Amino acid sequence: MRYISTRGEAPALGFEDVLLTGLASDGGLYVPESLPHFSLEEIRSWRGLSYSELAFRVMHPFVDDAIPADDFRAMLEETYDVFAHQAVAPLVQLDTNEWVLELFRGPTLAFKDFALQLLGRLLDYVLEKRKQHVVIMGATSGDTGSAAIEGCRRCEHVDIFILHPYQRVSEVQRRQMTTVLGDNIHNIAVKGNFDDCQRMVKESFGDQSFLGGKTQLAAVNSINWARIMAQIVYYFQASLALGGPDRSMAFSVPTGNFGDIFAGYLAKKMGLPISQLVIATNRNDILHRFMSGNRYEQHKLEHTLSPSMDIMVSSNFERLLFDLHGRDGAAVKSLLENASKGPVSIEDYRWRHARKLFDSDAVDDKTTCDTIREIYEQNEYLLDPHTAIGVRAARNCRRDNAIPMITLGTAHPAKFPDAIAESGLSVEPQLPPHMADLFEREERYTVLDNDVQGVQDFIARHWKNA
Ligand SMILES: *Cc1c(COP(=O)(O)O)cnc(C)c1O
Repeated sequence: MRYISTRGEAPALGFEDVLLTGLASDGGLYVPESLPHFSLEEIRSWRGLSYSELAFRVMHPFVDDAIPADDFRAMLEETYDVFAHQAVAPLVQLDTNEWVLELFRGPTLAFKDFALQLLGRLLDYVLEKRKQHVVIMGATSGDTGSAAIEGCRRCEHVDIFILHPYQRVSEVQRRQMTTVLGDNIHNIAVKGNFDDCQRMVKESFGDQSFLGGKTQLAAVNSINWARIMAQIVYYFQASLALGGPDRSMAFSVPTGNFGDIFAGYLAKKMGLPISQLVIATNRNDILHRFMSGNRYEQHKLEHTLSPSMDIMVSSNFERLLFDLHGRDGAAVKSLLENASKGPVSIEDYRWRHARKLFDSDAVDDKTTCDTIREIYEQNEYLLDPHTAIGVRAARNCRRDNAIPMITLGTAHPAKFPDAIAESGLSVEPQLPPHMADLFEREERYTVLDNDVQGVQDFIARHWKNA
């Protein structure tokens, strides 16, 4: 399988190189040159497979001969064995034909574990083979950092440095990062805000000379293709559990960066009958504004009760734009260059096509809280604020009650106690047993000034072979 850039100028790469690359050299994102397509008969034959075996069937064509089949199977078994539920992604019923797919049974209680547990293992496998080492550098305001750290804790060829804004992440989120103790794990608390952290990461990727040429940086944010790939699997799994592929399904997906919902779009293109895909955003609603009015325009960042979806631009949306433009990289390039200067639109017939593929909704904090309360009162079931946005959007956008509506449950409610409190419920969400002692565990992190040189010096001095 070859991968090409959405801006059409970077060289095509194989799976291994795509794994180790962040952005393409032309500023684009990598996508598969062609998608595998599965017949209904083949999908039907996957009924009853374990999650990891299903993951193998869905992902194998993307990995191709980069990893021998037996090794890839073993890696997937190990990856999904760490989840605290035998079904890995269990379904919970909310109402007649309405469901939540619980994607938060992994080590850090958010759906990002599905991709990052696998990504850590893939990186280590490929680096072992190549006798190489990488340094992962990332900035986090919450979920990504902890999932990436958990995913890399056992890697031998990866050092990971995660920057978070000092005293500006929740205690649960900080502890999920800082209590993972390993020689290759480095938490840096920057005396600044999230944007400062992100700027330092960007600058460091742009000029890696501080590493002295002895290692290179790798990215773990959702521009990494392997993350998208891993997220395609649970669309197949949920559908098979509810009578697919002989019935069509609808999905509602809480999203900010368009990663998770793009995976659903790919599942559909790969042959899974999906009749509706709902984009569910919070007040940071660039995607919803585009879908409703064909205007792609940055607004200023709003802080909401669903912080993992607080974004201004939606990086993975570029991958959809590429398809909407008939895979014309030059067209995508000029569109996105203009988008960084002001609002842009696409040709009307292309936008209409997008509207056929997706419905959308934006949900504010008050409605998020109302939904958490409503579902608790109906079912004694607690939603986290991100999932609540998905459920609200599902109910607002639903077209056909005969089709199962599945909302992706992206996080465990115990990660976001503030939103639960704000919804007026007197229940306190409990951390699951394997994390119950989180507040007693030893923490390890280094506080550094808001200064890129200081941070780079720290990294240069602390990676494994420094
Ligand atoms: C990251 C995250 C999202 C958004 O994911 P996208 O990649 O933007 O689709 C939603 N909910 C939670 C809990 C997250 O951590």
